Amino acid sequence: LEEELREKEKMAALGEMAAVLAHEIRNPLSSIKGFAQVYQETAESEEEREDFSIIVNEATRLERLTTNLLIYSKPLSIRPEPFSVKEFVSELKKEAELLTPDKNVKITFQRAQKVNLDKEALRQIVLNLLQNALDAANHTSDPEGPKVDVMVSAHKNALQLVVADNGPGIPKDLQAKLFVPFFTTKTKGTGLGLAIVKRLTDLMNGKIKIDSDKGKGTRITIEIPLN
Ligand code: ADP
Repeated sequence: LEEELREKEKMAALGEMAAVLAHEIRNPLSSIKGFAQVYQETAESEEEREDFSIIVNEATRLERLTTNLLIYSKPLSIRPEPFSVKEFVSELKKEAELLTPDKNVKITFQRAQKVNLDKEALRQIVLNLLQNALDAANHTSDPEGPKVDVMVSAHKNALQLVVADNGPGIPKDLQAKLFVPFFTTKTKGTGLGLAIVKRLTDLMNGKIKIDSDKGKGTRITIEIPLN
């Protein structure tokens, strides 16, 4: 037990350090990105434009990492509030459109009703799953092109979130590792997206189901109990 406590303290200290670092990196990073964007737009040659776009892309990647680190290292707590599922879905639609100007993202919901859950946590869960689905759908072999579906439905005892894509799928032997922090197969991944999803879902006593296999696309279902 003492060992466990010491381990917990160590993790808390590490988490705090990660949070401070991530926070300190954010402001200078946004200046770097902002100026690079300006220079990218006013570049005089194609070569110059490309150089600046590399800076912008890499800064965006760091931005994602620091945001995820901040979220992951904070002691997450859940604050339920009553909200309407219909409103939640329409807010998600707007955010999804920003992420996917040209992709086929369908967001549907059933049985609109009020629920009493942590809306911000749910939003974070859906957006992380959506980001992965979009990354995966980009590598689809479906001749019809990338497809992603997000479904939010309020049932009697649970809110169900489903994010499905027609990407390359996840081999069964990888599925156990998905939620381990920093596990990623992407060159530009942070490996924190699903770790955050898992933590938030656990905090709300929810369940995660992965339905996927190599070559078959991926469907992730999350069920959050309503009481
Ligand atoms: P990241 O997206 O930064 O890699 P995540 O924790 O969100 O971190 O995901 C971990 C890994 O899980 C990804 O690198 C990828 O290999 C796999 N993965 C997650 N979602 C999907 C998906 N929809 N389709 C295929 N692979 C996925």
